[in-house]
Amino acid sequence: MQDTTPTNTTPPKPYDLVIEAERVMCPARGVDAPSAIAVRADRIVASGPSIQPSAAQTIHFPDAVLLPGLIDLHAHPACRGSVFGVEPDRDILPRGTTTVCSQGDAGADNIAEYVEETILASRARVRLAINLSRVGESTEEGCFDRLEYADVDLCVAAAEEQREFIWAIAVNVSSHACGTTDPREIMRRGLAAASRTGLPLLFGMRRPEDWPLSEQLALLRGGDVVTYCFRRQPHCIVENGRVLPAVLEAREQGVLFDVGHGMASFDFDVAEAAIADGFCPDTISTDLQARHIDQEARHDLPLVMSKLLAAGMPEADIIAGVTATPARLLGLQEKIGSLVIGRCADLTVLQAEPDAVLTDCSGNHRRGPRWKGVLTVRAGTVVYNASYGASLGSPAKNQSTTLPRSPSVNSG
Ligand SMILES: [Zn+2]
Repeated sequence: MQDTTPTNTTPPKPYDLVIEAERVMCPARGVDAPSAIAVRADRIVASGPSIQPSAAQTIHFPDAVLLPGLIDLHAHPACRGSVFGVEPDRDILPRGTTTVCSQGDAGADNIAEYVEETILASRARVRLAINLSRVGESTEEGCFDRLEYADVDLCVAAAEEQREFIWAIAVNVSSHACGTTDPREIMRRGLAAASRTGLPLLFGMRRPEDWPLSEQLALLRGGDVVTYCFRRQPHCIVENGRVLPAVLEAREQGVLFDVGHGMASFDFDVAEAAIADGFCPDTISTDLQARHIDQEARHDLPLVMSKLLAAGMPEADIIAGVTATPARLLGLQEKIGSLVIGRCADLTVLQAEPDAVLTDCSGNHRRGPRWKGVLTVRAGTVVYNASYGASLGSPAKNQSTTLPRSPSVNSG
């Protein structure tokens, strides 16, 4: 037998990548301390303050926070086929989000292309809340403009066929989505598809003048997710500074509430009143879509998180709302959303500008720290490093990088 033992070579480094940071935060593990994470191949293989930085690449952040890769539960990742689509690897992954979920960009008619052209073609992990509408968001008209688009049998068949990529059924009963179609009938069909597949709903509400919010929310089941929870209008969960009883009852039943910031769904007054009343959102999401791409300040998940911080949401709850909680909703908690050894090495490092102006969708301003992604690691590979610019792929090996000091994210 041939001896294949290598001779006269230096022993391999124990890790491919070590990231040291002033703060390492993992709400799932209750960790918030100076520490380091070590990666081999696509896995987290060690963590703790005493890791020997014996790695092919070591990156040191003296004043930043290292988190599990961020999860954006509601956005519009789509390389093709959606009028709202943004390219996940270009517009989302470099900004700290390693897992992004589509709100209904595809339905039964175009899900095969969506899986092929977006989910399988992207380095970012992409999951879909399949649209109850068979056409998804492929046309300029509302997805439920025609009642026959809400085809339960087609939706169920498509969801079952592509189950590994689908976490929910998207049902938005807004007048924008429904036009003159009866929202109650859309909801009835959405619930039928959800119960036949065992999937939760990702639900967008209707203005109360058309349909009382209490009636809409009473139809939801534990595990369903209401998005756009901090809108000012045309529907609002806060009245006279207090969260509506119907909303609290829905939460009591296990219904979850998601931000879905978007172009019109985040209002500081509403968020501050709800948070002061003890009502924090379960998940924080961007609702990032094509019209955001040329905006200043550039819309991304760290920016939305910063606005929640300015609105009074506790920092640990913010981090949980973009890591552990969405990971659980996606059924991926054994893989992502925490810094447990053995998990996929999806990692994000954020630094904060200490005193930024933050603006909501109504044009109101607040001042506060503004988080920015400075490093994104996807499945063990550095896909964005601010000190190298926005390029996919690892910088040269054997490089040790220290980013310049910047103010702490802990100042808010
Ligand atoms: Zn959306």
